[in-house]
Amino acid sequence: MKIEDLMELEKQERQKRLQWSVVIRYLVIFIVVFLSWLASQFGASFFLAGILFSVSLALAFNLILSYVYSRKDIAKFWPYLGLVIDMFIITSIVHFTGGITSVFLPLYLLQIVGTNVHFSRLAGPINFFVGTTFFAALFTLEDQGWLTHYTPFPVAPDLHQNYAYIAATGFTLVVLMAVSTYRSGYVVRSLEKVEKELAKVNEDLIRANQAFQTANQRLKELDQLKTEFISVASHQLRTPLSAIKWSLKMLMDKDLGPLNEEQQELIVKGYQSNERMIDLINDLLNVSRIEEGRFTYLFVEQSIDPILRELIEEQKHVAQEKRISLEYDPGKIPLPIVRVDTQKIHLGLQNIVDNALKYTPFGGKIYVRVKPEKEELIISIQDTGVGIPVNQQPRVFSKFFRGDNVIRMQTEGTGLGLFITHNIIQKHHGRVWFESHEGKGTSFYVALPLVKDRTQVWNKTEKLEQALQNF
Ligand code: ADP
Repeated sequence: MKIEDLMELEKQERQKRLQWSVVIRYLVIFIVVFLSWLASQFGASFFLAGILFSVSLALAFNLILSYVYSRKDIAKFWPYLGLVIDMFIITSIVHFTGGITSVFLPLYLLQIVGTNVHFSRLAGPINFFVGTTFFAALFTLEDQGWLTHYTPFPVAPDLHQNYAYIAATGFTLVVLMAVSTYRSGYVVRSLEKVEKELAKVNEDLIRANQAFQTANQRLKELDQLKTEFISVASHQLRTPLSAIKWSLKMLMDKDLGPLNEEQQELIVKGYQSNERMIDLINDLLNVSRIEEGRFTYLFVEQSIDPILRELIEEQKHVAQEKRISLEYDPGKIPLPIVRVDTQKIHLGLQNIVDNALKYTPFGGKIYVRVKPEKEELIISIQDTGVGIPVNQQPRVFSKFFRGDNVIRMQTEGTGLGLFITHNIIQKHHGRVWFESHEGKGTSFYVALPLVKDRTQVWNKTEKLEQALQNF
């Protein structure tokens, strides 16, 4: 909320408070009439005609105020005029009910606290000044005999002429009025201060938020530029890397003549490094495609079994090199049908199997299993590898994450594989998660919805996409 908004709110609040003051005035009028009637029932001789005069005056004035306060723009002098007239009416009620001996003297205090809280800071001092003036004038006029003194309680008819009583009552009233003025004014001032500070804090927050949004926008633009840069650079790198790959392969396969052992070893190393570079470039290209929404899918309904068999076949030689037993258990064949993009799901699962091979030491074991469970097909890849440190597990699917333990082992990796896998599985409306114990092993799970209930999910998604396109 800005300062201007706060001021508008403050204006509305003030108007509400002024309207409330009209209601309170009606209430006080009623109480005065009722108490006067009650007291007269018990023998007090109030000057009822005078009280009626005061009350009528208050009623008439309140009617005018209720009209004035219902309008949008209230001229500033109205509340102040109200304050003076209220004090006058109170003084007249006090006069007609016994002057200095009136039971209605506390009305002065009520008026001070009420108006002070209701509108401005100035109201307090003005009230105090007007109240004490009216009160002093009244008792002086009565004392001097220029104004009739009414004696409500004939038991002590001369009480109003008793200076000890006058001093005690008058002094007490004035002191209480002063204290009330200060006390209620203090509360109002503190509240105003807090309100202003809150408004300032709010404005700072708004400004900070705007700055944050601008920075965020700029970051988005930079991120977009970075993605484009990676995409262009990767594309440009792919062609020469492919050329290098095929040249090295020809040399390695001795198409250009025999090589001695040293040459052969060097060429193989070069070929492997080049392959890693191609993998990295492919990962980077896939990530930028994902981020730009260009990772398109072509879904078909099929069994996951041939995809997994092919995957295992491709990885067999790596497993053999590391003397890792890589076992595949498809469970009950035929497996239920799932809807997949063959290449993408192959890539997604391959990243998990690659990791299992990479992060399982020599002689370890990897089991790939498939099992339908309720409305899903669960694929699990379990290894006896190094595991993922517990405190790093929440970050496993984020971009560029690599565990401390595998970095220490100086294994190769980009930290992009599982980010890509996670994205692919999500696009298949599936789930991917894992359980891992450092030093013992890791099990990754992929759940793909079976075709039967997939259709429903798909229909819903397609309908939504269609609706969005038509929008
Ligand atoms: P990388 O190219 O580093 O393998 P990934 O995104 O595929 O990137 O994996 C991210 C990180 O998750 C890995 O670097 C490794 O720390 C951890 N990780 C993934 N799979 C395994 C696993 N089977 N065993 C141990 N750590 C794993």
